[in-house]
Amino acid sequence: MKEKDYTLDTYEKLLMAFERKGYTFQAFEDFVSKEHSGKAVILRHDVDRIPINALKMAQIEHKLGIRASYFFRVVPQVWNTAILEGVVHLNHEVAYHYEDLTLTRGDYEQAITHFETQLARFRAYYPSKTICMHGSPMGRWDNRKLWERYDYRDYGIVAEPYFDLDYSKVFYITDTGRAWNNSSISVRDKVDSGFDIPVRSTFHLMELLAKDQLPDHIMINTHPHRWFDPGLFWYRELLLQNVKNVVKSVLVKATR
Ligand SMILES: [Zn+2]
Repeated sequence: MKEKDYTLDTYEKLLMAFERKGYTFQAFEDFVSKEHSGKAVILRHDVDRIPINALKMAQIEHKLGIRASYFFRVVPQVWNTAILEGVVHLNHEVAYHYEDLTLTRGDYEQAITHFETQLARFRAYYPSKTICMHGSPMGRWDNRKLWERYDYRDYGIVAEPYFDLDYSKVFYITDTGRAWNNSSISVRDKVDSGFDIPVRSTFHLMELLAKDQLPDHIMINTHPHRWFDPGLFWYRELLLQNVKNVVKSVLVKATR
């Protein structure tokens, strides 16, 4: 059977493959706080939806002794303090995936107040020192523009991936659109990369790694909601099937 991509199992294999090649894993806040000589992967997760998947990835990383960065949105479908606490407990960095300009419909004053309030909510769980923009490709507002009028450093933030990483030195890849480096999908979630290395799949990424064709510094940005456990889908299918059977039995009874 052909192995499925974008499963938690494949993700774990990818992490182990990097470890075998001598890469260390770093949370974003740790990476920006020091100079790097060896090979390093910054593991960044943008939690846009289905936060329970973030907790699953966090568990896998923790099992392998890896610390990563989790950027959570504050919209109701993502904000879940039990999950935040769980991810913090697993020794990961937890920080704000901000979209204040979108949420306040482009009102800069409201947006910065909103930003400050949300940052305080995060800091009740983790001393967040970094932030990362949520870039909705269809959105009207570019949330980064908030920093044309304000300075995140005034709020104790030391780094934002879109502003504070040199992508001519750090190879950036993201799982957007169920393909790595799919530049046609998201207009905003792009950086000016110094590398031209197309990555077709997670298995292809592992192949490039095995052939030593990857740079020393890499940021891997994944969206946990794009990674699933086939077991879960299997289980959901079973539940659906049960519901269908219940419905069927009700219908059968009704027609008797
Ligand atoms: Zn996002």
